[in-house]
Amino acid sequence: MDFLRPATWAEALTAKAERPEAVPIQGGTDMMVELNFDVRRPGALLDLNRVAELAGWGEEPDGRLRVGAGVTYARLIAELGDRLPGLAQASRTVGSPQIRNRGTVGGNLGAASPAGDSHPPLLAGDAVVEVESAARGVRMIPAADFYLGVKRSALEADELIRAFWMSPASGPQYFSKVGTRNAMVIAVCSFAIALHPGERRVGTGIGSAAPTPRRAVAAEEFLAAELDWEARLDPAVLARFGELAAGAASPIDDVRGTAGYRRHAIAVMARRTLTWAWNEFRSGHFERRAG
Ligand SMILES: Cc1cc2nc3c(=O)[nH]c(=O)nc-3n(C[C@H](O)[C@H](O)[C@H](O)COP(=O)(O)OP(=O)(O)OC[C@H]3O[C@@H](n4cnc5c(N)ncnc54)[C@H](O)[C@@H]3O)c2cc1C
Repeated sequence: MDFLRPATWAEALTAKAERPEAVPIQGGTDMMVELNFDVRRPGALLDLNRVAELAGWGEEPDGRLRVGAGVTYARLIAELGDRLPGLAQASRTVGSPQIRNRGTVGGNLGAASPAGDSHPPLLAGDAVVEVESAARGVRMIPAADFYLGVKRSALEADELIRAFWMSPASGPQYFSKVGTRNAMVIAVCSFAIALHPGERRVGTGIGSAAPTPRRAVAAEEFLAAELDWEARLDPAVLARFGELAAGAASPIDDVRGTAGYRRHAIAVMARRTLTWAWNEFRSGHFERRAG
């Protein structure tokens, strides 16, 4: 197996163009498991760890954050937890401190597992994935269009993930995950919510309850029409939101849980996360924290 070690982003793109079968490796927390268990035996590994362009994040002129594919969960929590609270909350549930010190959102996107914990908050927060190839340049792919199937994404063979773009939270954001224990666990299912009070809109993301991570579109549309932003949360609205969120899932029975349980849990998590976010919004706590 060849081991390619580009030092710059340009070199990495050239290497991927010349060897499209080369498999990128960042933190290696997915890749090394696959290599150790002989799930994959690629002809070449493309190590991205020396590429400095992937390791940083910054604020763009339009106010959005551009977070390099090589930024670890630990750094995301420490450096961006105030601006991307939903994603940081999800990141805190990933693996263990060791995994969070190596693993990245870029790698989570690369693996595109329906159970990846970063996906629901990326969907709820309208993230956009920046990918690039030497031949065709940059493509900006909304997270909602990125996931195509079980562990399949819109990434082409000659492309690499450069970064994801996301606006700093404009309102409360929450993530909830059901697992068989509290840490080191793959989600049985998960749910993320992001309030966008300026637009009177709520974003959602469902994890591990369909072939791909996905938004609960009908539930979002229902809240856009029915949520009274000046009032207390109507229990009937809350209940209907949970039902519509569960209806957006298309789970399967597997070793981690049944389809019926997953649907039930999505409804519960949708109601809970909306209640947490609403209480924070109504208390004014989010504005005080952000300001
Ligand atoms: C013990 C353990 C616990 C875990 N717990 C969780 C958990 O709780 N939640 C969760 O979501 N995940 C979990 N994982 C899985 C893994 O940690 C995450 O998916 C992590 O985000 C992978 O990031 P990485 O940088 O290590 O990726 P890598 O292993 O380096 O790569 C993962 C995939 O992405 C591709 N890739 C990486 N970078 C790029 C790039 N720039 N462009 C294109 N493709 C790229 C690789 O080719 C590979 O297919 C766990 C893994 C282990 C071993």
